[in-house]
Amino acid sequence: MENHIFSGLADDAARLLAMQALGVQPTCRKCGAPLSGRSAASFLAGKRVKCSLTFECDWYGTWRDHTPLHRSTLNDRQFLALFYRFTLPAAQSGIAEALGISPATVREWRGRIAEIFPRDAAA
Ligand SMILES: [Zn+2]
Repeated sequence: MENHIFSGLADDAARLLAMQALGVQPTCRKCGAPLSGRSAASFLAGKRVKCSLTFECDWYGTWRDHTPLHRSTLNDRQFLALFYRFTLPAAQSGIAEALGISPATVREWRGRIAEIFPRDAAA
Protein backbone atom coordinates (compact mmCIF):
# COMPACT_ATOMS: atom_id res chain seq x y z
CA MET A 1 0.00 0.00 0.00
CA GLU A 2 1.25 3.42 -0.89
CA ASN A 3 1.97 5.72 2.03
CA HIS A 4 3.59 8.89 0.78
CA ILE A 5 2.85 12.50 0.09
CA PHE A 6 1.05 11.85 -3.23
CA SER A 7 -0.76 8.64 -2.28
CA GLY A 8 -4.15 10.34 -1.94
CA LEU A 9 -3.97 12.05 -5.33
CA ALA A 10 -6.61 11.06 -7.92
CA ASP A 11 -5.32 9.22 -11.01
CA ASP A 12 -6.13 12.08 -13.39
CA ALA A 13 -4.44 14.69 -11.22
CA ALA A 14 -1.37 12.50 -10.73
CA ARG A 15 -1.09 11.88 -14.48
CA LEU A 16 -1.30 15.58 -15.34
CA LEU A 17 1.32 16.46 -12.72
CA ALA A 18 3.62 13.69 -13.95
CA MET A 19 3.22 14.94 -17.54
CA GLN A 20 4.05 18.45 -16.41
CA ALA A 21 7.09 17.25 -14.45
CA LEU A 22 8.38 15.47 -17.57
CA GLY A 23 7.46 18.29 -19.99
CA VAL A 24 5.02 16.12 -21.96
CA GLN A 25 2.64 18.00 -24.28
CA PRO A 26 -0.40 16.56 -26.11
CA THR A 27 1.62 15.84 -29.24
CA CYS A 28 2.72 12.70 -31.05
CA ARG A 29 5.48 11.13 -28.95
CA LYS A 30 7.32 10.11 -32.14
CA CYS A 31 7.10 12.96 -34.66
CA GLY A 32 5.81 15.78 -32.44
CA ALA A 33 2.69 16.54 -34.50
CA PRO A 34 -0.02 18.15 -32.37
CA LEU A 35 -2.93 15.89 -31.49
CA SER A 36 -6.45 16.96 -32.45
CA GLY A 37 -9.17 17.74 -29.89
CA ARG A 38 -10.49 14.24 -29.24
CA SER A 39 -7.08 12.58 -29.53
CA ALA A 40 -5.56 15.21 -27.24
CA ALA A 41 -8.29 14.57 -24.65
CA SER A 42 -7.69 10.80 -24.84
CA PHE A 43 -3.93 11.35 -24.61
CA LEU A 44 -4.36 13.50 -21.49
CA ALA A 45 -6.66 10.81 -20.07
CA GLY A 46 -3.80 8.31 -20.39
CA LYS A 47 -5.32 6.34 -23.27
CA ARG A 48 -3.57 4.99 -26.35
CA VAL A 49 -3.88 7.32 -29.32
CA LYS A 50 -2.75 7.38 -32.94
CA CYS A 51 -0.64 10.14 -34.45
CA SER A 52 -2.71 12.67 -36.41
CA LEU A 53 -0.34 12.14 -39.37
CA THR A 54 -1.36 8.49 -39.67
CA PHE A 55 -0.10 8.19 -43.25
CA GLU A 56 3.38 9.51 -42.51
CA CYS A 57 3.81 8.40 -38.90
CA ASP A 58 2.94 5.02 -37.42
CA TRP A 59 2.94 6.04 -33.74
CA TYR A 60 0.23 4.50 -31.61
CA GLY A 61 0.80 4.79 -27.91
CA THR A 62 0.37 6.67 -24.66
CA TRP A 63 1.90 9.79 -23.13
CA ARG A 64 4.48 7.61 -21.37
CA ASP A 65 6.21 6.64 -24.63
CA HIS A 66 9.68 8.17 -24.96
CA THR A 67 9.71 9.22 -21.31
CA PRO A 68 11.59 7.57 -18.43
CA LEU A 69 8.23 5.97 -17.50
CA HIS A 70 8.03 4.02 -20.77
CA ARG A 71 7.43 0.36 -19.86
CA SER A 72 7.83 1.20 -16.19
CA THR A 73 5.47 -0.34 -13.65
CA LEU A 74 5.85 2.75 -11.46
CA ASN A 75 2.52 4.52 -11.19
CA ASP A 76 2.21 8.29 -11.59
CA ARG A 77 1.90 8.93 -7.83
CA GLN A 78 5.00 6.89 -7.06
CA PHE A 79 6.89 8.72 -9.80
CA LEU A 80 5.82 12.11 -8.42
CA ALA A 81 6.98 11.21 -4.92
CA LEU A 82 10.38 10.13 -6.28
CA PHE A 83 10.62 13.07 -8.67
CA TYR A 84 9.94 15.75 -6.10
CA ARG A 85 12.18 14.07 -3.53
CA PHE A 86 15.06 14.14 -5.98
CA THR A 87 14.44 17.59 -7.42
CA LEU A 88 14.29 19.26 -4.02
CA PRO A 89 17.75 19.86 -2.55
CA ALA A 90 18.49 17.65 0.44
CA ALA A 91 19.80 20.38 2.74
CA GLN A 92 17.35 22.53 4.63
CA SER A 93 18.98 25.75 3.41
CA GLY A 94 18.78 24.54 -0.21
CA ILE A 95 15.09 23.68 0.13
CA ALA A 96 14.41 27.08 1.69
CA GLU A 97 16.18 28.82 -1.20
CA ALA A 98 14.47 26.70 -3.87
CA LEU A 99 11.03 27.39 -2.41
CA GLY A 100 11.70 31.03 -1.52
CA ILE A 101 10.88 30.51 2.16
CA SER A 102 12.96 30.70 5.34
CA PRO A 103 14.89 27.72 6.78
CA ALA A 104 12.76 28.10 9.92
CA THR A 105 9.62 27.60 7.80
CA VAL A 106 11.18 24.49 6.21
CA ARG A 107 11.96 23.12 9.67
CA GLU A 108 8.47 23.89 10.91
CA TRP A 109 6.78 22.26 7.91
CA ARG A 110 9.05 19.23 7.93
CA GLY A 111 7.82 18.64 11.47
CA ARG A 112 4.20 19.07 10.47
CA ILE A 113 4.55 16.83 7.41
CA ALA A 114 6.40 14.21 9.45
CA GLU A 115 3.35 14.01 11.71
CA ILE A 116 1.09 13.39 8.72
CA PHE A 117 3.43 11.03 6.82
CA PRO A 118 5.68 9.52 9.49
CA ARG A 119 7.40 6.94 7.27
CA ASP A 120 7.81 9.13 4.21
CA ALA A 121 9.17 12.23 5.92
CA ALA A 122 11.65 10.28 8.02
CA ALA A 123 13.78 9.41 4.99
ZN1 LIG B 1 3.59 11.16 -35.30
